[in-house]
Amino acid sequence: MRKRIIVLGSTGSIGRAALDVAAALKDQVSVVGLAAHQGWQLLAEQAQRFGVPAVAIADQRHYDDLKRSCPASTRILGGAEGLVELVKTTEADFVLSAIVGAAGLPATLAAVGRGLDVGLANKESLVVAGSLIMPLARQHGSTLIPVDSEHSAVFQALMSGQAGEVHRLYLTASGGPFRTWSREQIERATVEQALRHPTWSMGPKITIDSATMMNKALEVIEATHLFGVSPDQVEVLVHPESVVHSIVEFCDGSLIAQLGTPDMRTPIQYAMTYPQRVPGMAARLDWHQARRLNFEPPDAERFPALRLGYEAARRGGTAGAVLNAANEAAVERFRDGTIPFREITRLTERVHRRHRSVDEPTLAQLMEADAWARAEVDGCMRG
Ligand code: NAD
Ligand code: MG
Repeated sequence: MRKRIIVLGSTGSIGRAALDVAAALKDQVSVVGLAAHQGWQLLAEQAQRFGVPAVAIADQRHYDDLKRSCPASTRILGGAEGLVELVKTTEADFVLSAIVGAAGLPATLAAVGRGLDVGLANKESLVVAGSLIMPLARQHGSTLIPVDSEHSAVFQALMSGQAGEVHRLYLTASGGPFRTWSREQIERATVEQALRHPTWSMGPKITIDSATMMNKALEVIEATHLFGVSPDQVEVLVHPESVVHSIVEFCDGSLIAQLGTPDMRTPIQYAMTYPQRVPGMAARLDWHQARRLNFEPPDAERFPALRLGYEAARRGGTAGAVLNAANEAAVERFRDGTIPFREITRLTERVHRRHRSVDEPTLAQLMEADAWARAEVDGCMRG
């Protein structure tokens, strides 16, 4: 029987790559649900191409457009609640969570709460609510398979040992477009420069996060939740070639890494077919060519966002929700030209420092912290 999958965020960079993988694996996978924010044309095309029975669009204004563009038999849902409804009511085995930002949290929670297996690209949902998602997954027997390339690598490398044998995780980082830039150059970077990533082609929000290295800060928090390690056990290693996707160091000093060309179709496919492996679409590493792999420690002076990730991971409670929301709001303002590049991290840090974290928060408290942080960013802009 084919694995029935729902792709949330199907019009995005990860979503489109996931549908390419699904097309290649059409004998093993059937797409039973799609969801996105506004891009109704592409959503309708995807629904048609894969014969998808249920489709949701978060922006209610495009509900009618989408409905008109799909066969009458297609079930169309609208609004943020429509996405959750899609996950709750569609017969499925696996949900790919690939919406960008905290907006992906409700549908991720719904999938985990139903005990479905989840391929998790939407790292923000773990950063915000890892303290709720992980126990919920255990309670309902939902397996979370990371899609983020570093966490997919760690997930695979961890199979070489037992939980108590892990000494440390090394998350690799490309270093982003400004790895070799001076502090002064970075501070004045334009949107166009920040969107030019050297090794990965991704959506705009995560690309800006890679330029500030907030992406790695979020990934440190993501790793502590996914793998039950302390922040002190997670290290970041700058590796410009993006070939070694991450490394697990075991107690005996052995280092186990996962390598491959930088192509998200590999971790997406692994999450979809887990626990099996099947032939993949990505180009293979060619070891007949001379190849150098470089590693260097991150520079906390030029990339101060990284430290904020460790602080929020150590603090726990609502700290991750605040860090994430402040960053989302600041990145939006950088992208629309309201603030210069350096202000993304400065604003985020200011809000992070003002926050008094609540321990063992409920979902409502996490949502409150998220809203508070966005309002604080607004307040900083006015003051
Ligand atoms: P993207 O901007 O290309 O796509 C985002 C998708 O989310 C789109 O389909 C969009 O319609 C949908 N979306 C946005 N806001 C929404 C809302 N409010 N409600 C419902 N849907 C909404 O982003 P992406 O690069 O594909 O990234 C998606 C997620 O995967 C992010 O969390 C990112 O951090 C993570 N991720 C991406 C990559 C990558 O290579 N692109 C790698 C690792 C992790
Ligand atoms: Mg990553």
